[in-house]
Amino acid sequence: MKKIKNFLKSIMLIELIKGLILTGRYLFSKKITIQYPEEKTPQSPRFRGLHALRRYPNGEERCIACKLCETICPSMAITIESEERFDGSRRTKRYDIDLTKCIFCGLCEESCPVDSIVETHIIEYYGEKRNDLYYTKEMLLKIGDKYEKEISKTKTLDSLYR
Ligand code: SF4
Ligand code: SF4
Repeated sequence: MKKIKNFLKSIMLIELIKGLILTGRYLFSKKITIQYPEEKTPQSPRFRGLHALRRYPNGEERCIACKLCETICPSMAITIESEERFDGSRRTKRYDIDLTKCIFCGLCEESCPVDSIVETHIIEYYGEKRNDLYYTKEMLLKIGDKYEKEISKTKTLDSLYR
């Protein structure tokens, strides 16, 4: 009986018709595909993209070299070396992030007591060689300086949910 049923189904092209109905249903529905890079999907303020190191408005580095981010990083992507500055404060002399190791978990940002290391909305970056994705302190500060406005805006938006 089952064999006859399957035979009738196959000669009546039932499966094919079902497939065409499904295709037809999506043909006229609202499209969700976007034309990247001209169009972009909205990002959450908590989006975790490229890292940056921030400064205070007076230009002073926020980072106090406490190494919490280095300690918490599950993929050991952060390397910090610290030194005492002329004024007795502790600062980093080396702050590197190896983005080939990073899993963008955001724990470094969460652990930072002074909102120094952050993950920005930037996703459009690349490297042709492994070293291109090794970000040094100078590179991270440069990103922070360039995008400080956006970073503080997303921080304010995110603070509403904390
Ligand atoms: S996002 Fe996660 S994996 Fe990447 S550097 Fe920060 S703590 Fe490490
Ligand atoms: S970025 Fe933040 S958590 Fe990491 S060493 Fe500097 S102050 Fe500490």
